Amino acid sequence: MEHSFLAYLRGRCRKLPQVTVGIGDDAAVIEAVQGQQIACVDQIIDGVDFLSAEHALADVGYKAVAINLSDIAAMGGTPTTALVSLSLPEQNSTRIAGEVYEGILEAAAQFDLAIAGGDISTYDGPLAISVTLLGYVDKNEAFLRSGATEGNAILVSGAVGGSIRGRHLRPTPRLELAKRIRQYAQVTAAIDISDGLSLDLDRLCAASGVGAELDTERIPIHEDAHALSTTSGRTPFQHAWSDGEDFELLITMSQEHADSLAAQQLGVPLTQIGNIVGRTGLWQREQGQLKRLSPQGYIHGS
Ligand SMILES: [Mg+2]
Repeated sequence: MEHSFLAYLRGRCRKLPQVTVGIGDDAAVIEAVQGQQIACVDQIIDGVDFLSAEHALADVGYKAVAINLSDIAAMGGTPTTALVSLSLPEQNSTRIAGEVYEGILEAAAQFDLAIAGGDISTYDGPLAISVTLLGYVDKNEAFLRSGATEGNAILVSGAVGGSIRGRHLRPTPRLELAKRIRQYAQVTAAIDISDGLSLDLDRLCAASGVGAELDTERIPIHEDAHALSTTSGRTPFQHAWSDGEDFELLITMSQEHADSLAAQQLGVPLTQIGNIVGRTGLWQREQGQLKRLSPQGYIHGS
């Protein structure tokens, strides 16, 4: 199956200048980048990250690319090239590969991403899609998790919570937004929200050796969180606080830069939800007292 499918795929993949030799040789030949290369990989597995019985396979393919694009956005980078590895169940493998690739190619076309190569195998197991993304960033300009300092403003893009109602399959990677923010402000730290606002903020704080004092009433709650709360037994806030797969950005910068950024048209809402503090942990001020908040979200492998 691999041979004919790869031939088909080679015909479907657009030629882009970043790849000199793509699918069909022993390895891809990719043009060297200006600045620094950034790379990430993420695998999604049927039954763990999606349900093939419920979700369209094209959506699942799209998601496999989009979640990696979100990681590149969180680094403030520009994506260029993808390597895709499919592990397919033996039954209907060609049909499944074709459907998954519809979504992969759609995301690639949307974000000018070259599919430079990959691997396809069949086995006695669930569908698994692994996407490796390459991109670039100017030298020493990558957004890291570790640069937040006391007094920094904490901002979140879009609105969060309830992505399971459908947004989790077709998230919008905030690549454009990250680029625009860079024009106006010096980002000190960033992370994308994959496992929950509070959990990913806690990770950013841990990496920076700081804590956060939050104005929880300002957390932008997505309408999906409100809709979900009518049946989930949880409040819209709880969904916004802990639901995963929003793929929004959490970023920090000086309060001064955050204030001047507020006047810019960024295309996507950016909301300040608090400030970085020296004391580790997540905090909320209630009647003058600091109350500790516990981060919650999706922990992988639990
Ligand atoms: Mg991430």
